[in-house]
Amino acid sequence: MDRDIIYLENVIVDFNGFKALNGVDFIMDRGELRFLIGPNGAGKTTLLDVICRKVKPTSGILYYQGSQKLDRYPIYEVARLGISRKFQAPSIFPELSVWENMELANPRSHGIWSSLTHQITKTEREALSESLENMGLFEKKDHLAKHLSHGEKQWLEIAMTLAQKPKLLMVDEPVAGMTGRERHRTGEILSAIAGEVSVLVVEHDMDFVKTFSKTVTVLHEGRVLYEGDFETVSNHPRVKEVYLGRGGQA
Ligand code: ADP
Ligand code: MG
Repeated sequence: MDRDIIYLENVIVDFNGFKALNGVDFIMDRGELRFLIGPNGAGKTTLLDVICRKVKPTSGILYYQGSQKLDRYPIYEVARLGISRKFQAPSIFPELSVWENMELANPRSHGIWSSLTHQITKTEREALSESLENMGLFEKKDHLAKHLSHGEKQWLEIAMTLAQKPKLLMVDEPVAGMTGRERHRTGEILSAIAGEVSVLVVEHDMDFVKTFSKTVTVLHEGRVLYEGDFETVSNHPRVKEVYLGRGGQA
């Protein structure tokens, strides 16, 4: 069990009689890059909400890093535990430079005022620089964030999130609105991050999932319908029926 980053056992989320999650068993190894797919309304976002404690399950158990019960922690403690969620809309500061955004994300910086006034150490500076290098954003460090392309904004936000040293990073539809090149780069970035960090990705773009996934979990009507590599998943008759056959490309 110590290999798990997250383990959900029979999780039910009941919204006034409607079960958005209806008995989900879900397990993810540390360092894994996992893709979560499924038709609209399958419960994907609710699953992320449950893991980051935005939604409290009606029943079921959540274990984090093996044996830690997540149920004990309120939403505001989740980031400190190392669980991080990146939303679709980037939450960067558009009027600040790329570098200033990174300084704000520096773990020692608490709030905008202290982060803009205190000096970061050489080690911290190097870590932030390296993170920008990895995203291909270092040469743009003095640009205002608002002048970055849509994809670059997303990468900046990933770099900012990683500065907090999360153990589990969750991203909901990371390549929506991106160009083909940006999609590919995003896949490379997420693949490179995995290993160090466990990464859970909700995505609709089947070409993207096909290219970058190892294990894919299919959610349907609040349950895990199937799990496996892309090839196996996309050839599964039930998966084809409920999802891929209805607009999926595979
Ligand atoms: P997905 O992300 O897979 O499209 P969601 O997790 O967003 O699916 O939603 C699953 C189902 O739960 C949907 O039918 C949605 O309408 C419903 N739902 C989500 N959040 C709430 C809520 N706060 N109250 C009532 N129903 C909800
Ligand atoms: Mg969703």
